[in-house]
Formats: sequence, structure tokens, C-alpha cells
Amino acid sequence: MSHRRILIIYAGGTIGMVPSANGFVPSARFADDIGRLIVKHHGTGARHRLITLDPLIDSANASPHTWHRLADLLWAERDHFDAAVILHGTDTLAYTASALSFLLAGLNKAVILTGAQIPFAMPTSDGERNLQGAFACATTPVREVCIFFDGVLLRGNRARKWSTQPGDGFRSPHWPRLAHVNGSVDIDTSTLLAPTTPRCDPPPAIVTDRAAIVTLFPGIDASLLRAAADHHRAGLVLGLHGAGTGPTANPAIRHALTAISADRIPLLGISQCPHGTLNPALYETGRQLADCGVLNGRDLTPEAALAKLHTLSCQRCPADDVAAAVAVPVAGELTPANGT
Ligand code: ASP
Repeated sequence: MSHRRILIIYAGGTIGMVPSANGFVPSARFADDIGRLIVKHHGTGARHRLITLDPLIDSANASPHTWHRLADLLWAERDHFDAAVILHGTDTLAYTASALSFLLAGLNKAVILTGAQIPFAMPTSDGERNLQGAFACATTPVREVCIFFDGVLLRGNRARKWSTQPGDGFRSPHWPRLAHVNGSVDIDTSTLLAPTTPRCDPPPAIVTDRAAIVTLFPGIDASLLRAAADHHRAGLVLGLHGAGTGPTANPAIRHALTAISADRIPLLGISQCPHGTLNPALYETGRQLADCGVLNGRDLTPEAALAKLHTLSCQRCPADDVAAAVAVPVAGELTPANGT
């Protein structure tokens, strides 16, 4: 039995869902099952504590408020737990994990998010396996925000939901898995985040400005970019083609991007490809996008890029400093230009 104090936060998701006339919905009943699982696997003396959020949500309904609620809770409880396990829906798990890694950078504790793609109450559920693996990882030297799923522990801000089928739920295209769990936990310590200066400040407060993701596509109208920027003044993550190209032969697109960045709304380019880093200098159109103010998000996932713009906005990062802030990893989220 581990003597570590594990804080468990049940936020919703398929793991605890039950059928309804309209499809699966979250249920508080799963909280009892969690209690039973703790006793089954860790004995009655386990120093675990469970907080069930109200309302429990399908993670499709998660918002930046959800991220801040979790970050504030973890911060408020920080002296009372050694590691945290968050049970969360898989659909937006990678967004929440990314946001927590930035909002709580320097917490220096394991925060492990997990869930299931088949409800715990069903015989084929992956829920107990995932929960057990997350608990096992919570007793290791890992000190960062992670996702545990299907036997592997991934850095949260590097992970993406990969498949709607259990067995290959999450992948980390640009960073190796931190650990593999098969009975015991096999950690690759070379992949872990080095402990940083412990944070002294609470997570930044939420601001009203929001960030957005806009994926470029053949035929995109410049008005879509302008409308997105008008309503998402914390910045636009632009899903560019390939190594970082876009339809710059269309002057309206160039004008819209230039005007948005002149309006001090950050434009952060990432690739639509699931793998590979941006190289905007490779093609003329990539250089033209950079001239319009599009920043190089290198190998950031869309989830991490959005959460980073959100966090910078909450930190009231001056527009002139966003380019430098984006280029420097704060929680291992991107491979910087020198590759370290
Ligand atoms: N729709 C569910 C959710 O994200 C899916 C899941 O948990 O697997 O809450």
C-alpha cells in the first residue's frame, strides 16, 4: 500500500457514465465505485481523498472555466496531496491537460488525467485498468501534468486523442512516452520534465478574452479569419498546411492576417499534419505568412497551442512579448529551435 496522499477529482466523462434515453450521460454513482476501487487496490488505510465535481460533465462541455476550476482546486489543495488523479472525459482531455500544465507550471507534483472510452459499469470497460495505471504512476517520481491511458503515461501537453476505440486512445507524436505500465511502472526518466523553481503564485485568474483554432483550407474566406479574431482576442491558432503554408496568393487573406496582428491579436501557426515541425522559411507562402505576423508554433499540438495562448492572455502578456513567450517551453510543450 502506498502512503502517498492522492487527491482524486472526478470531473465526468465516459468512465462514470450511464445510459439514458438520449445516450450516455455522466453519473455521480461512479463516485461510490471509486471508493470501492481504492479499498480493493490500496486497502482501507489508503490516504486518498475524492472530490466529485458538480456538475459532472461530458468533456465536450468543458470550457476555460473548467480548466481554471480544476487549477484553482489543485492549487488550494496543494499542501494536502502528493499526487492528483483527475477522472475526465477523453474528448477534450488533452486541452484540459495542456491548460493545467501552463496554469500550474512549477507545481512540481504529478497530476495525472485519465478516463475511459467504455463506461466503468460495462463488462468490457477500460476504466479500472486506466484508473489503476494512473494510481500506479502517481506513486512514482513523475512531477508533471500527464495523461495515463491504455498502459502508457504521456506528457499532457504533448498528447492528443488519437482513436475513438479503446486500445489506442492517446498518442504523443513529438515526445516519447514517459512510462509504460504493465504490472509494474517502467519509467523512462530521460523523458521527464526537470523540476523547476516551485511556483509561489496561484494560477492566473481567467479573463474574458478567448483563443480560437482556425484550420486553413482551400477556398477559405478572409472574413472567417476576421470574424474569428473579433470574437477571440486572446489569439488565433492557425492550422497551416504541411510545413507552414497557406493561401497567400489571395491578397484578402494576407490583408486580414496583417490587420489582425496589427490589432495585437496573436497569430500562432502550427501544422495540420499530425507529425512534424513547422518550417515556414521553406516555401514562399510560409515566409509570406510570417511577414503577415504568423508566429512559428513549431511542433505544438493544437490543444497545447490554444491553451498556451489562453494562459498568456490570463497572464496579461503584452502583445510584443507573445512571440518570445511562445518560443520558450514552460512545461515541455514544444521543441525549441535549438532542439533541447
Ligand atoms: N464524450 C465523452 C467525454 O469526453 C467521451 C469519453 O469520455 O471518452 O466526456
